[in-house]
Amino acid sequence: MTTNDQTRLHLAAHDAKEAHGQTKVRKPSPFTLLFLLLPLMLITLSLLMLSDQFADLTVGISLHGLILFHRGMPTLSPTSSPTPQPTQQSVKFLPAALAAQIADLEAHDRFFYHGNTGLPEVALTFDDGPNPANTPQLLAILKNYHVQATFFDVGRLVKLYPYLARQEIADGHIIGNHTWSHAYLPALTPDMMRKQIAKTSDIIQQVTGIRPIFFRPPYGAVSAKVLTIINEFGLTTVIWNNDAQDWSIPGTFTIIARVLAAAGPGAIILLHDGGGNRSQTIAALPTIIQQLRAQHFQFVTMAQLVADYHYKAASPTPTPTPTRPPRGHPHSPQSAPFAWQKEKRSGSQGLVQRTHIQYDSVPVAARTLGILSQVRWAVFSFTVTP
Ligand code: ZN
Repeated sequence: MTTNDQTRLHLAAHDAKEAHGQTKVRKPSPFTLLFLLLPLMLITLSLLMLSDQFADLTVGISLHGLILFHRGMPTLSPTSSPTPQPTQQSVKFLPAALAAQIADLEAHDRFFYHGNTGLPEVALTFDDGPNPANTPQLLAILKNYHVQATFFDVGRLVKLYPYLARQEIADGHIIGNHTWSHAYLPALTPDMMRKQIAKTSDIIQQVTGIRPIFFRPPYGAVSAKVLTIINEFGLTTVIWNNDAQDWSIPGTFTIIARVLAAAGPGAIILLHDGGGNRSQTIAALPTIIQQLRAQHFQFVTMAQLVADYHYKAASPTPTPTPTRPPRGHPHSPQSAPFAWQKEKRSGSQGLVQRTHIQYDSVPVAARTLGILSQVRWAVFSFTVTP
């Protein structure tokens, strides 16, 4: 290497250093940008949450990102061939307070945590779909076992994947309304709630020809205002009393163990076919069906569970013997035996566990929680929805 070469190299290194230095001055690092933008984004989202645009924004974020957001939401065309539907009447003179509302709605068979606790039947419910990766696999398993279930579908996903909603109906399942964009209803204005519910019932009817009569509030979150609006639509609210929290991806065995531990006569079992990777739920389902069948449970749709609610067997119903969750599995979770013991102590068979969220009024904290859970759901849904 000559001296000239060395000088050139040195100069080049110097230039590079300088250039690097300049870049550093001109462009802040991505982390700095993120740090500066994050609070701004949160504030914007909070403001939007309170505006009427929120439902549509969620769709923008969660599915097509900015493209859809810029384009605006496709407008929903009116039902092309409306099929006459046995729409339910609203419950008249609904009380103002939440607890009284629930009691009144329950008395009118319009609010359910569980079915008939004297019958050996359970309802499988799948939320947050339809999803092109998960739903066909679950449908295949259900078909294989001749099991009919209830799908609480998200309106905007029904619009995206209408063929999946049609397949659910063709296979003998029932579709319920789970809002347009998986909205956290207690944080919305009455008009926003109406839009979320109406658009979803419309698209389900448009796609399948059947208008839903069942409704499940996302996160199980209800307030007095929420129930008032649901009642306006004459919908029956379905919560659950068997929640394996499969959405948290706790492991296939844990999902199986939790469902079996909390299963009893009239159980409404909550599982998910959307909102994330549901391979564990899919893997768990055959065992759940086999085990519950071995305990002489029958699988029914929500329509059947409601129809059987007041049925009283002439002779004492042979109560299925609850079976302990399988033991000795290498991945045996701590939570399963615990859940079982808790259930045994209370002497019930996995009945009313009021695990859902209720708000008489919606304080700031609840709104924040709502916004955060909404953002989490939207981001999660975006990352996994093909
Ligand atoms: Zn949901």
